Amino acid sequence: MLHMEGEQRERLQGVPIKTTAAIAFRPGQPFIVADVELDPPDAGKVLVQTMAAGLCHTDLGVREGNSPIPVQFPVVLGHEGAGIVLEVGAGVHDLKPGDHVVSFAPECGRCGSCRHPTGNLCDSTFGHHMLGPTMTSGGTPIHAGYGIGTFAKHFVTDRMRLVAVRKDAPFDEISYLSCGATTGIGAAMISAKVHTGASVIIFGLGGIGLNIIQGARLAGATTIIGVDINPAKEAIARRLGATEYVNPSIVGDGIVGLLNEMTRGGADFTFEAAGRIDTMQQAFATARIGWGVCTIVGVAPAGETMKVLPYDLIMGRKLQGNTLGGVRGSQLSTLVDLLMEGRFDLKSLITDRLPLEDINAGYDKMRRGEGLRSVLIF
Ligand code: NAD
Ligand code: ZN
Repeated sequence: MLHMEGEQRERLQGVPIKTTAAIAFRPGQPFIVADVELDPPDAGKVLVQTMAAGLCHTDLGVREGNSPIPVQFPVVLGHEGAGIVLEVGAGVHDLKPGDHVVSFAPECGRCGSCRHPTGNLCDSTFGHHMLGPTMTSGGTPIHAGYGIGTFAKHFVTDRMRLVAVRKDAPFDEISYLSCGATTGIGAAMISAKVHTGASVIIFGLGGIGLNIIQGARLAGATTIIGVDINPAKEAIARRLGATEYVNPSIVGDGIVGLLNEMTRGGADFTFEAAGRIDTMQQAFATARIGWGVCTIVGVAPAGETMKVLPYDLIMGRKLQGNTLGGVRGSQLSTLVDLLMEGRFDLKSLITDRLPLEDINAGYDKMRRGEGLRSVLIF
């Protein structure tokens, strides 16, 4: 199947691709690793051999069945992924077998969002849950989560959901750039536009929050306060650029007062990356009156709402959020170049490299707060 030419390739066209995937059959249940048959890449699609796939908290929320992101079960989840193109469907002329790619949000280049100067939610991002199943396992139809599904040895996705990257970049690190690292760095640099000399507070120092720290440092922030209930995050947060660390479990209810005191009235930029309503409220309450911008990055459980006092908005506090840090696929190669120049560090954030078979153990570790980012290696 690798680099077949001519007759052999034609003979195989239309034949399902046998591979192995971690399937979420029902919300709330562990992943089951099983054989699956993928529909071959038809027009506009690409078959990728997965080399690395990061475990993002978002997939955990979806698997537990409490995420607002629409996904149909049974499903192969996974949206962080890097791999090698094996086959391209009809009409795909700008990727070829052997190219290195990462999965990303689509960019059609033509819709209102793609033509807007800051839009990064291409119209084709939506409706992935409306697509029919694209694989089977033992005869059961299975969906590809978000139209991708990287928790598998191979995946087939739209050309639009892939970004070609330079071949010298390590797969585990670029797979992290297909969501977590980009979301964090982009949230600081592109979405919030942190500037030189700014003060920044980050709530939640996981796979995303630690990269918000790196983005804030790259943008020239001088006060970077990391907030996390897990004291194990302090050392790495400081190494990546945090100037202070606060543990809310020790501070208790006084957390907002303490942070506002530390920043003399609130920070220029605050970020929420824990995915909880209480920390979202705290992030909003610690953005400085007058101009402070609070950026929501964490995904709160479906149906939960945040309270906002309109007078706070009148007083100039700003509230915003973003997907993937506001980054577009076409901006990703710049981040890969910065990574390869050593301007930020992903190597020491990848604390576990696991085979697909250990995916449940990887997510159990995330739930227990152990390690930083786990990446499946194929
Ligand atoms: P993670 O599990 O690695 O990190 C979460 C961190 O929050 C942990 O370090 C945890 O100790 C900390 N935390 C928990 N409760 C806290 C509290 N009360 N105060 C302070 N810190 C607390 O998760 P992650 O992969 O970094 O993802 C973080 C969030 O970002 C999730 O909600 C995820 O769904 C979301 N996310 C959003 C986007 C986006 O595009 N907007 C992309 C990826 C992930
Ligand atoms: Zn993610």
